[in-house]
Amino acid sequence: SVVIDGLHKSYGSLEVLKGISLSVGAGQVVCLIGPSGSGKSTLLRCVNLLERPQQGRITIGDFDVTDPEADVDRMRRHVGMVFQQFNLFPHLSVLENCTVAQVKVLKRDKAEAERIARANLDRVGLAEKSDNHPDQLSGGQQQRVAIARALSMDPSLMLFDEPTSALDPETVGDVLSIMRDLAAEGMTMLVVTHEMEFARDVADKVVFMDGGVVVEEGPAAQVIGTPKEPRTQSFLSRVL
Ligand code: ATP
Ligand code: MG
Repeated sequence: SVVIDGLHKSYGSLEVLKGISLSVGAGQVVCLIGPSGSGKSTLLRCVNLLERPQQGRITIGDFDVTDPEADVDRMRRHVGMVFQQFNLFPHLSVLENCTVAQVKVLKRDKAEAERIARANLDRVGLAEKSDNHPDQLSGGQQQRVAIARALSMDPSLMLFDEPTSALDPETVGDVLSIMRDLAAEGMTMLVVTHEMEFARDVADKVVFMDGGVVVEEGPAAQVIGTPKEPRTQSFLSRVL
């Protein structure tokens, strides 16, 4: 589970997160929606300490991520992140992309790391691409490699930041279906997305953010189907 409590983040005089609180229960999927610039990516980046918040607390399980003494490597071992722009290592093969952190961070031996990588590549339907390089794959395939790479670290939490926004329409479905499978298998997931159908079907909870605050949250069907707040209504009328 993840608990975020009273999170504040500013860049200079620009206050981007103005006291965000939200939680993701173990095995839950929470979808975060909101207009451009509302602070969604910043929030995700705070959860895995790519950014340091100025105030507030984030705990993952019983681990206080925001404790200044916290071991960043230990936290990163438990959190997988998938970005809009895949961020694969271009000079490494698909298989190597999925083994390098296992060997470096988890100290697995190469053979075991490769076994686990192949199992996860198989899971995302890309076993036969192991020896290719990222630039030989479609965007959707690259994103599936990024998911396999994250899963190879045995994360207890997966963060997704608009994983399908940069994809051609015909490859979006493959990535969403892998995310649906993960959710069904009980993975804890915090997902920034504009895919409202995915959010409605898969999310246990939808959180609408605007201007650095949580405006509305609740069950997916309620927030997307019958939003209470005018700002949520106006956002949804633009994206649906
Ligand atoms: P989008 O839907 O476009 O991805 P977002 O909700 O993810 O938007 P953020 O990327 O979190 O929004 O950005 C929130 C605000 O913080 C924006 O005004 C952005 O310009 C600002 N911001 C983000 N990162 C930085 C940074 N490193 N330095 C300064 N300002 C930043
Ligand atoms: Mg963003």
